[in-house]
Amino acid sequence: MPARKPLLSLAITVALFVASLGAAGGRASISPTDLREWLTYLASDELQGREIYTEGLGLAAGYIQTHLQEWGLTPRGGDRSYLQNVEVRSIKSTNRSSVTVRVGRETRTFTQDDGVSFPSNVGAARSFTVDRVEFAGYALDAPGANYSDLRGRNYEGAAVVFLGRSGPQVVDAEQSRRLLGGRGRWLTDQMKAAAAIGPAAPQQERRQSGTDGSANRPPRPDFVTAQRLDQPVSPSITAGDEFLEFLFSRADVKYADLKRRAEAREPLAGFRLENVSLTFTLDAEYEVLRTQRTQNVVAVVEGRDPQLKSTYVAVGAHYDHVGYADTELTSDNKRPSAPGRVTGGAEQDRIWNGADDDGSGTVALMAVARALAEGERPRRSVLLVWHAGEERGLLGSRYFADYPTVPLDKVVAQLNIDMIGRNRDNQASESNTVYLVGSDRISTELHDISIAANRALERPLTLDYEFNDPADSEQLYFRSDHYSYAAKGIPVIFFTTGLHPDYHANTDEVSRIEFPKLTRVTQLVYETAWRLANLDHAPARDFRGPRAGRGTRE
Ligand SMILES: [Zn+2]
Repeated sequence: MPARKPLLSLAITVALFVASLGAAGGRASISPTDLREWLTYLASDELQGREIYTEGLGLAAGYIQTHLQEWGLTPRGGDRSYLQNVEVRSIKSTNRSSVTVRVGRETRTFTQDDGVSFPSNVGAARSFTVDRVEFAGYALDAPGANYSDLRGRNYEGAAVVFLGRSGPQVVDAEQSRRLLGGRGRWLTDQMKAAAAIGPAAPQQERRQSGTDGSANRPPRPDFVTAQRLDQPVSPSITAGDEFLEFLFSRADVKYADLKRRAEAREPLAGFRLENVSLTFTLDAEYEVLRTQRTQNVVAVVEGRDPQLKSTYVAVGAHYDHVGYADTELTSDNKRPSAPGRVTGGAEQDRIWNGADDDGSGTVALMAVARALAEGERPRRSVLLVWHAGEERGLLGSRYFADYPTVPLDKVVAQLNIDMIGRNRDNQASESNTVYLVGSDRISTELHDISIAANRALERPLTLDYEFNDPADSEQLYFRSDHYSYAAKGIPVIFFTTGLHPDYHANTDEVSRIEFPKLTRVTQLVYETAWRLANLDHAPARDFRGPRAGRGTRE
């Protein structure tokens, strides 16, 4: 068939030309064609929704790994492997922790389930005394409602007590549910309090007075973790009336009065509890009931600067999603044990493809990896981690942060990409918008670098900081993998295009991805990483907390 020959050679010429274009690497090599090709596979039904511990997730890991090999990235998951084994342990905790309260010359000790309740994971066994005890009212920061108990306060090293299960009247309790639930964590993690003490929930108080009769049943895990258990954890505990009455017994304002005001959701001013100290004895025995295994995919692009190459810019995304429904439809068209929401009209669809969550970040990270590996090398090295088990509680990133394959103190920043392929709530007006979360919290310099990176793009995006607002009801800062790094003091930026009706629904599919936008956000992440990787110093960590918020756009 001679007629085909010229055609064939033309095809080869075109292929070589295209290959040479690709080989140039760099930001311009990030194209919607590749992103679409990769995502079409990763979010296909063949991968079964990429749930942790399933074949589907394994296929995704293999697919990413094959590409990394082809592009010549250095494996950094384990010994010459891209795969890092992640151990997820189910733990039975026997908690003997206690807290001793000293008020003036009087002391009383409250033990676990007898007046106070410690979390089942109290970290490493240790004992310490805190002499500075502060009452922080509702310990709520809600600038949206123009309310703050915490602004301008420094609680570093203090034990902070707060009241009010619903918060003050000026703050909508339902809207701020996540905010209220996160107060202890906010105080210990963000404000570096030595301990946080909140009011016990009513059912908790009841449970504290009884013992359960489950001795003959097989032990149930108290928590599941991928983290080390021998590290100190600042305790966030809850306390009943007896504890709080004693704690406030010498204060000018009595607990009964504070409690009444908290229940009426009236204003509660903070004050220091003079002559009060707390001694925490954290002591729990952890029995491993079960160890499950999954894998992070980890690679490095080595930097070209002889000194800076031993430091890293980390870029990450999670490659897992929530899986598929293994049950049949009931007669009333319900799907019991569906792993997420079922979109009306799509009841027959059994697979949660997670094209946006976080197939979009997974392929974006592949594009960044290739652009760096095939293009000009930056001075610093770039660490790329595809995390497993994000959907089950940031498991892969928590594991990596506790068992890093490069020294964490050499990681200058972490950029996390989770859901960057859509318009928030499907609004066309969002087509140029990407949300940045966390960028100003640890390093103002990092925040500024990301803004400059965006301005350098051919078509800059609108950077919106609404989800960085400390009062935002979604509290996204704590809800994806970057937080595992931020908790270690590493400056982070979380890139997302926001939530939409297909979030965690069986209709989060490739057909709904905005590929041109996905490409542009990926280029922004690349450009930000590139600038960080060429910086002669690590972005300064000034820990000034969230400032850009609702209404801030760049
Ligand atoms: Zn996600």
